[in-house]
Parts: sequence; C-alpha cells; structure tokens
Amino acid sequence: MQNHAKELVVISGKGGTGKTSIVASFAALAEKAVLADCDVDAADLHLVLEPAVVKREEFSGGSRARIMPERCTVCGKCQEVCRFGAICLDEPDNGEAGKTCRVDPIACEGCGVCAWFCAENAIEFAPAVNGEWFISNTRRGPLVHARLGVAEENSGKLVSIVRTQARKIAEDRKLDLVLIDAAPGIGCPVIASITGADLVLVVTEPTLSGLHDLHRVADLTKHFGIETLVCINKWDLNEEIASRIEKQARRRGLRSAGKVRYDRAVTEAQIQKKSLVEYQKNGAATEIKQLWAEVLKVITALNPSGTENRP
Ligand code: SF4
Ligand code: SF4
Repeated sequence: MQNHAKELVVISGKGGTGKTSIVASFAALAEKAVLADCDVDAADLHLVLEPAVVKREEFSGGSRARIMPERCTVCGKCQEVCRFGAICLDEPDNGEAGKTCRVDPIACEGCGVCAWFCAENAIEFAPAVNGEWFISNTRRGPLVHARLGVAEENSGKLVSIVRTQARKIAEDRKLDLVLIDAAPGIGCPVIASITGADLVLVVTEPTLSGLHDLHRVADLTKHFGIETLVCINKWDLNEEIASRIEKQARRRGLRSAGKVRYDRAVTEAQIQKKSLVEYQKNGAATEIKQLWAEVLKVITALNPSGTENRP
C-alpha cells in the first residue's frame, strides 16, 4: 500500500498574526518535509527560505476577452451585455469609427458573453496567463510556491496546483510531511488549502479580532471535519484576551498546541532572512520548538486521511 505524506496546514483568521514566521521555524525543525506556500496572493515564505528555482510553470486561471479594434464596428452590443462594465470606448480610430472598444482587463470577469454576442467576431476569448508556480530548492528542503498576478482571480485553482505538486514531491522523495502555509482568512484559497488535509494549526493573537476570527476558522475546519489545534502567538501582549481565547477554544473542542511570547527577535531574524529557531536559541524560539513537538505528536498519531477529498 502506498504511504501518503501527511498534510499540516497553518492558517490564521487574518494577516499579521505571525503565521508565516511560525511556518518558517517549523520548516527548519521538520525533517523529511516538503514546504508549500499556498498564500498565493501574498507569498512571503520565500523571503526567509531564499529558494533556488528549479522549475517554473505558467498558470492560467481562466480566459479573458480582448477586442480586435480593426474589426470593431462600435455597434455597442458588447457594452450592453457586459454585466461588469468592462467595455470602454477609448481605443483609437480604425478607419471606420473615430473611437473603438477595448476590454478593461481588471474589470473583466472572463464570462465570455461579449465574445458570444459580437456579430463581427471582433472579440478574442482565450486563456490568459495570470500567474506562475515554482518548485525550488531551499536550505530546508523542497518548496513549492506561486505568484498570482495583481487583481487576478482563481487563487483556489493555483493553491490546488501547489498542493498537488508538493504531494508529488513528497511521494517521489519519500518525505513524511507536507507543511502548508495557507492564506489568512476563510476565503477560497484557504478552503483549497485545507480540504482533505490531516491537521490544521490555527495561529491567532490576543486581540478582540483574534477572538472573533477563531470562531470563524473553527467553523470552517469543523465543516470540513479536520482535526484542529490552536496556538496563541504574542500571547503576553494581552494576557486577559489570551485567556479568553483559550477558554473559547476549549469550549469549541479545539486543542491548544501552545503559546508563543512576543519577541523582538522575530523581526531581527526576518531581517537576517532566517527563521526564529535558526536565529535564536532561547526566548520565543524555545516555545516554537515546544509547539512543533506538540504538533508533531498529534499529526503522528493521526491516521492519514484518504486522498479522495483532496483537491
Ligand atoms: S460587439 Fe463587437 S463590433 Fe460591437 S462594439 Fe463590441 S467589439 Fe465592437
Ligand atoms: S468576458 Fe464578460 S466580463 Fe469580460 S468583457 Fe466580456 S462580457 Fe464583460
């Protein structure tokens, strides 16, 4: 029977909780792991891991309309049918009309309706390149990462590609773990990151929004039936709210994996392009090591989830 690597996904209700710096330390502590940066809209794990790209592929998340002005008779049909207001009348003279039409690529949702209705066959509707994905070598093992163009959609599809590639590498190289840094929030890229995963670690912080976000992410992981652990990062910045978060997590049946103190060394390590555990022996690094030991204990004890639900 094939032995599938387990998937650990680190998520947070919002950005700025210190999720990626914890993942970078996990990457340094993990043995036999492949890393996957699934925060494709704002990937930053590479800033610490300094990857050397060995494979690069273009990503197409959908098609875009493009008007060929030389064929446009400015009949106005495309403007009439586009529900996203993406057709502008600002292209220059084509010999027949003083102004011709153009598609605003930011506003275009790629529905294809305009191309369907254009009687002059003046609208090209073709797959657009909206990003790239990469396989890289890092000092902490293989990394799969990606870059989505500004204002581009379909990040969930790109996340699924990153996960699939990471799993392939794990199988080929007989690695035990896929360590995933997911996007913040509860949107489409996060759902694509956690579906079918074995374990989720929620990194939160001791603020009222952290408390609120915990419920939102707990609802999400409960919906997908994924074992979930919680870590309060920078817990000593507000001990009272940290203790409320712990109580709420218990009430929701979420296990605490540990707490990490606020430590200026986190920023110093980032400046040095190091993970905290590579930069520091004591302080918050000690707590991250304990957190990792707890996460490892839980994920090792889990039966691997089936692959049928994975994207
Ligand atoms: S429907 Fe076609 S011909 Fe008419 S304005 Fe749009 S692009 Fe031009
Ligand atoms: S593809 Fe859809 S959204 Fe884009 S310009 Fe055409 S009608 Fe508008």
